[in-house]
Amino acid sequence: MPVDPWPTTAVTLLGDAIHSMTPMRGIGANTALRDAMTLCRNLVEREPLDAIADYERRMREYGFAAVTASLRSARQFVSGNAVGRVAFKSVLRLFEAVPPLKRAAFRDHGLD
Ligand SMILES: Cc1cc2nc3c(=O)[nH]c(=O)nc-3n(C[C@H](O)[C@H](O)[C@H](O)COP(=O)(O)OP(=O)(O)OC[C@H]3O[C@@H](n4cnc5c(N)ncnc54)[C@H](O)[C@@H]3O)c2cc1C
Repeated sequence: MPVDPWPTTAVTLLGDAIHSMTPMRGIGANTALRDAMTLCRNLVEREPLDAIADYERRMREYGFAAVTASLRSARQFVSGNAVGRVAFKSVLRLFEAVPPLKRAAFRDHGLD
């Protein structure tokens, strides 16, 4: 569940500790790494609390968007609708067989 903003302190969260991900879509580790990169860059460029506040604001947006997408895929994967399940698995197999297509499909889940 998305969480509301909280008062920023010197302690923050990243990865599954804040936006726990289903295995579907294979974006949990990418999103955790994106958190690390965003926070790291911010800490180099800004004052610590400002850096953490900006990181938390951005992370809540893309992190929970990723959770929603991952959850949607998980539901499609276990759907009771056989046609929908077959179609979804076929798309996944197509992505595996055509790497440029896979990269294009998951482009939005990469790094800035
Ligand atoms: C079955 C499965 C398949 C997945 N497949 C993919 C995939 O293909 N691609 C993808 O991108 N994501 C995948 N994910 C999701 C991905 O694994 C997670 O989103 C990602 O590992 C989160 O990284 P993290 O660093 O936040 O947490 P974690 O990888 O869980 O790291 C947390 C670490 O903290 C350690 N720890 C916990 N408590 C303590 C403590 N008290 N003291 C010290 N250390 C502690 C743990 O041992 C662990 O090593 C999958 C998940 C599952 C369950």
